[in-house]
Amino acid sequence: MYVSMKGILKRANEGHYAVMAINCFNLETARAVIDAAQELRAPIIIDLLQDHLTSHLDARFLTNPIIKMAEEASVEVAINLDHGHNVAIVKQCLEAGFSSVMMDASSYPYKENVAITKKMVEFAETYNASVEAEVGNIGAVTGENYTNQAMYTDPKQAIDFANQTGIDALAISYGSSHGDYPGGFTPAFQFDIVREIKEATNMPLVLHGGSGCGEENILESIRLGINKINVGSDFMKAQVDKIKTNLEETPTINYVDLISDTITAGKEVVQYYIQLSGSTGKSL
Ligand SMILES: [Zn+2]
Repeated sequence: MYVSMKGILKRANEGHYAVMAINCFNLETARAVIDAAQELRAPIIIDLLQDHLTSHLDARFLTNPIIKMAEEASVEVAINLDHGHNVAIVKQCLEAGFSSVMMDASSYPYKENVAITKKMVEFAETYNASVEAEVGNIGAVTGENYTNQAMYTDPKQAIDFANQTGIDALAISYGSSHGDYPGGFTPAFQFDIVREIKEATNMPLVLHGGSGCGEENILESIRLGINKINVGSDFMKAQVDKIKTNLEETPTINYVDLISDTITAGKEVVQYYIQLSGSTGKSL
């Protein structure tokens, strides 16, 4: 069932669980994610990052086959443009059939973020697509900087943003970062930010950079109102590790088997996160 995020996140909000959104960039990664969700009867979101669509495989060649997979899936599958920074590309994705987009104008001054996002919400209505946006700025793991408190979401601003734009889901920054944390490091989350925004908006909130956050942080985030959790790094890493092991153990392995095995490895990570998110059995 190919759906937008509207229904699956509305039910997650009412039912106090989260839906997993996993970064995919080719057919094999999408296959792994959909297979994982089907086996657990979980709604799922395929996140296609704008950067991957411009650097790896253009949306024009990728979207249709993934939509086909989603339509034929036995569970609800949404396709979401992740971190759409460029208005023209976000519009192209909607025209190409994405059921959901993230309009990420969070690097602009606040008023511009509001204006750009509001316009995109109006544009997306024509397609009945859902829109996610971001206030504050969820950074990336770089060097010794794992989180930057200066980029945390200001709850008052987030509440105003939600009211002004009419978005379907709001990504907030309260301690997570994109990418891989060094071994043994668990970020400290500022849960008050989640609590305050949820109480005032009662809308679906999104945790980006879910990889490596730790089970306790994720469970507490869900308890306080996070309904969508983005995971990319852990999913990709499992697949790279599988390739490394296969090449070490069977240097003569053929390419088809090598890549097929990454689907199985990726699927296991997705199923771990689905179980953690509480979305098992929640698909229509
Ligand atoms: Zn993100």
